[in-house]
Amino acid sequence: TAPVITIDGPGGSGKGTIAQKVAQFLNWHLLDSGALYRLVALAASNHGVSLDNEQSLQILAENMDVQFLVDDPEQPIRVILEGDVVTRDIRSEDVGRDASKVAALPSVRAGLLQRQHDFREAPGLVADGRDMGTVVFPDAELKIFLTASVDERAQRRFKQLQEKGMSANLADLQAAIQSRDEQDMNRAVAPLVPADDAFVIDSTDMNIDEVFTELMNHARQ
Ligand code: C5P
Repeated sequence: TAPVITIDGPGGSGKGTIAQKVAQFLNWHLLDSGALYRLVALAASNHGVSLDNEQSLQILAENMDVQFLVDDPEQPIRVILEGDVVTRDIRSEDVGRDASKVAALPSVRAGLLQRQHDFREAPGLVADGRDMGTVVFPDAELKIFLTASVDERAQRRFKQLQEKGMSANLADLQAAIQSRDEQDMNRAVAPLVPADDAFVIDSTDMNIDEVFTELMNHARQ
């Protein structure tokens, strides 16, 4: 089987950016597993499925028609849900909040498992999320847990949203990050914790290049 590098951590820790950079550098496949949870949430809202309807959510998780298109490795991957481009739509705070809700349901997580395993193809995979190293790819060659303070993560999200021309409020983002952390860390299934064999990198005072260098140092060992 192809080698895997997992990058887990809370929202806004920079794992998405780092995962993309590492995948591009190694020329490996990329799995943004958070996007899958966001897609279940968006598909549910499109189909009028309630977020307590675990059975229907599982059916969506297993059967929704999703494509990830890499046109330009420098650009974010294009995400298509049932024929519609939803790259931006899935990034909204509302979808993020709903994603965190559906992510707490064991059958949704189970429904997405096979899809995630399918990304593991030669020459290798960089997978980012919350449980990549603990649940989805426990045998990964390298596991990173990337974190940063709540303040720093809120600042980063704020900048990201501004760059995309989306409106944002820093205090709201801070509160949203904090409540999402709590939800993700305290849920019964696949709570957000570092794998026992993960390297923890605190990126609060690091820029992307520094995180990349540290990660690649671990990768070479
Ligand atoms: O990383 P992102 O913000 O896109 O993830 C959205 C939500 O999906 C997270 O708050 C988390 O609840 C959930 N998630 C998860 N497991 C993953 C990736 C994301 O539970 N591997």
